[in-house]
Amino acid sequence: MRSRLAGVAVALVAGAAATSFVAPVAVSAPAPAAQSSAADGCYTWGRTLSRGASGDDVRNLQIRVAGYPGRGARLAIDGQYGPATEAAVTRFQRAYGLAADGIAGEATFAKLYALQESDCSPANFDFSELNNCNADWSGGKTSAAGAKANALVTMWKLQAMRHAMGDAPIVVNGGFRSVSCNDAVGGAPNSRHLYGDAADLAAGSQGFCALVLQARDHGFGEALGPGYPGHDDHVHVAGGGDVWSAPDCGM
Ligand SMILES: [Zn+2]
Repeated sequence: MRSRLAGVAVALVAGAAATSFVAPVAVSAPAPAAQSSAADGCYTWGRTLSRGASGDDVRNLQIRVAGYPGRGARLAIDGQYGPATEAAVTRFQRAYGLAADGIAGEATFAKLYALQESDCSPANFDFSELNNCNADWSGGKTSAAGAKANALVTMWKLQAMRHAMGDAPIVVNGGFRSVSCNDAVGGAPNSRHLYGDAADLAAGSQGFCALVLQARDHGFGEALGPGYPGHDDHVHVAGGGDVWSAPDCGM
């Protein structure tokens, strides 16, 4: 008797164990691979983003579409997918011939993956071009990390501007300056170069006037060029706030 009952008990336990062992396998086995195959060394989005979304993935998107805020506007890099982000994504999509619905999904991310390098800079600009002052982005009027982050946004704006002008190279002759670098070149005491979000451009094949006029459409709050004191030999673009002047270009 004792052995038969023990045998039944063992069978019941074994059955229960088998059931509870099989169940989780059956549930987890069909789970699809959710990650995009286009991931790279910089950043990979894990979900479709649209109006109302918020988070670091939205912030990363905003950095990359910061050059598409519309004329005279600037896109807040705040991690909130509002109407301005939706409009910027729509302009980005239109610029690259994608379905322009303002929703950042696979096609939009695929284009961004194609444009970004493993250090998160856009394909045609490098951190080294935005800093010929020092190696570590220190000594400005914001933290080193802050200055470098500002330079990243500036590069994505330049990438948008470059694409809008036919993808001809834009030549950058400097960006971030520490206080001592700024003093050495006689920069204004509160220059945006001290914050890392300014860039000085050579004439390139576009010419100064085309560059300085185009800058208004790509998220720059400052655009200075020919006719503005000290800017006959370069175009200055920066985050800044509505300082546009290039009298010789009609601006
Ligand atoms: Zn400048």
